[in-house]
Amino acid sequence: MPKQNDLEQKALQIIMNEGRRGILQSELWRRINATSREGSRISIRLERRGLIRRERELHNGRWTYRLYSKKQPLSIDSILNCPCLTCEESDRCGGGGRISPNECEKLTRWILESIMKEKAQSGGE
Ligand code: SF4
Repeated sequence: MPKQNDLEQKALQIIMNEGRRGILQSELWRRINATSREGSRISIRLERRGLIRRERELHNGRWTYRLYSKKQPLSIDSILNCPCLTCEESDRCGGGGRISPNECEKLTRWILESIMKEKAQSGGE
């Protein structure tokens, strides 16, 4: 029988992979081969640790929870527009120099815009 921590890791990975769709908890229990009692404990623990959120949902006439990850894995899409990837100064850019990420307006603007976009997509959380 897998250890509790392994099950939590596995559950979290599956929830993260489901992204914005989330996953019904019963489906998750099936996939990690856990009983509903074990599964409920896992999801409550993950929620207490701030890793997921649970939302009530009516499914086939019964109330249950859909689980969403609060963190999403980094995707290629999320860094595609990073200005560093096409920057002419990238060879000379580095910590301590005249040109550095700490002082870069282009990078700062891109980071702020990415944060605003992410907030708008997740409903302002
Ligand atoms: S931090 Fe600014 S200057 Fe440095 S590589 Fe990125 S965009 Fe270019």
